[in-house]
Amino acid sequence: MIILGEDSQRMKDRDAQSHNISAARAVAEAVRSTLGPKGMDKMLVSSMGDVTITNDGVTILQEMDIDNPTASMIVEVAETQEDEAGDGTTTAVALAGELLKNAEDLLEQDIHPTAVIKGFHLASEKAREEVDDIAENVDPDDYELLKKVAETSMTGKGAELNKDLLAELIVDAVKAVTVEADDGSNVVDLDFVKVETQTGRSAGESELLNGAVIDKDPVHPDMPTDLEDASVLLVDEPIEIEETDVDAELQLSSPDQLQQFLDSEEEQLREKVEAIKASGADVVFCQKGIDDMAQHFLAKEGILAVRRVKKSDIKFLREVAGASIVSDLDDIDPEALGTATISRSEDDELFYVEGDDAHGVTLLLRGSTKHVVDELERGVGDALDVVATTVGDGRVLPGGGAVEVELARRVRDYADSVSGREQLAVEAFADSLEVVPRVLAENSGLDAIDTLVELRAAHEDGQVRAGLNVFTGDVVDTFDAGVVEPAHAKEQALASATEAANLVLKIDDIIAAGDLSTGGDDDEAGGPPAGGMGGMGGGMGGMM
Ligand code: ADP
Ligand code: MG
Repeated sequence: MIILGEDSQRMKDRDAQSHNISAARAVAEAVRSTLGPKGMDKMLVSSMGDVTITNDGVTILQEMDIDNPTASMIVEVAETQEDEAGDGTTTAVALAGELLKNAEDLLEQDIHPTAVIKGFHLASEKAREEVDDIAENVDPDDYELLKKVAETSMTGKGAELNKDLLAELIVDAVKAVTVEADDGSNVVDLDFVKVETQTGRSAGESELLNGAVIDKDPVHPDMPTDLEDASVLLVDEPIEIEETDVDAELQLSSPDQLQQFLDSEEEQLREKVEAIKASGADVVFCQKGIDDMAQHFLAKEGILAVRRVKKSDIKFLREVAGASIVSDLDDIDPEALGTATISRSEDDELFYVEGDDAHGVTLLLRGSTKHVVDELERGVGDALDVVATTVGDGRVLPGGGAVEVELARRVRDYADSVSGREQLAVEAFADSLEVVPRVLAENSGLDAIDTLVELRAAHEDGQVRAGLNVFTGDVVDTFDAGVVEPAHAKEQALASATEAANLVLKIDDIIAAGDLSTGGDDDEAGGPPAGGMGGMGGGMGGMM
């Protein structure tokens, strides 16, 4: 249920809770069918008519026009997961939805929300501890394993068809920007990996390039396009006559005066080009425009110039060429210039800019149409993040629901040690974890109950890595089967799903703006709602 443009009103206690829970669950329902390799895609049409076809949880939720505040809190779960881990957004949202569903059952049994919140919090902490115990430490140089991490993340996405090639490019890209810190840990800076897309060719022709790719033409046909060890100047100001702020009117009394005026403009441009030449630049990448006359002078000097280069490209070129960005052409510090080898592909109408010490790499993704490349880019983006996480963190988990079933088992055991009503909430948390294998089975057309029974039996039997092979329906050691996920993403999903569920459960009163000045005041005069909520919020802050 997604509520759009409600009139102002107020809801309290169970009404408020069940309203919130339904809204949050509706969001979770919306993405469930996309989970896993056999998940389906969604087609999202914006009010402008733009179409997005995707399987990516966070993209779906961001594109959906969600107008309900509680539902938006669940969307935030996906966004946090995307920011912190880069993958696992559907899992996090599905888990939040399931926690709330099971919480509602407890509330119906008159268990106070505080007990549920406390139980969820305890269970979530326990589950995260156990993630660390289940996780396998891997060698961050294990190329094959990193490839599997990338492939698992891309399975079922648009990127899947070429996942072998793409996984290699992704691992190579991450490796190219990994440096060892003083303490021996690996630091991956994905800012040095730029993902570019191009339509027209197949995804199998995607490639990893040292340096940057600039999808622009030279400003003049007579300019050189291939330059070895060229001095590179990056400019973020226009190479044009400075426009006056006010409209000036020119009073001319003779044709000579006009000529004089034009001459002086030409002179200014000539001076700018002189300054560029004097700096020793062989190539200029300009973020803004370049005047026609200046283009002509630059061509005459044999300097390659490219205009209206994207700001992000200029910044990336700075890394690639080891240059600084110049804003004032009258005062160019020779130190600001960098060095790079430039070559041009006439077929693709691109410049390749390769720096000396290869500070940055570009992953050039190709695909037949825009929809294809866009979804490819999302899949590859997730995979880059999980590989980077794995290289940095070194811990991975068996996928295909294996870790969730194992966590559920361990959290259930732990519940025995929890007293009071919280125990029921800890058990409910354990049940909620099983939403992942259940939905993976459902989405693969398997019987969810049979699958879960089989998985639980395997885990009771000590097979910690038993998960679902969604293609055969068998329970297998998913780690050996190459279905591996970074541990960090799972910890993040557990944390953010629990936080969101608890945030929703803490609300016992919804006051929508508008009519409140009348109805609301009366209610508040009665005391409990406002005061009660304030007290509750304060008391539970530490539990989140
Ligand atoms: P999310 O947005 O949560 O990453 P995905 O649609 O990417 O959602 O699905 C991730 C889930 O799919 C994980 O639980 C992962 O273990 C599982 N998965 C990925 N590949 C396989 C596979 N080959 N077999 C079984 N499960 C898989
Ligand atoms: Mg994923």
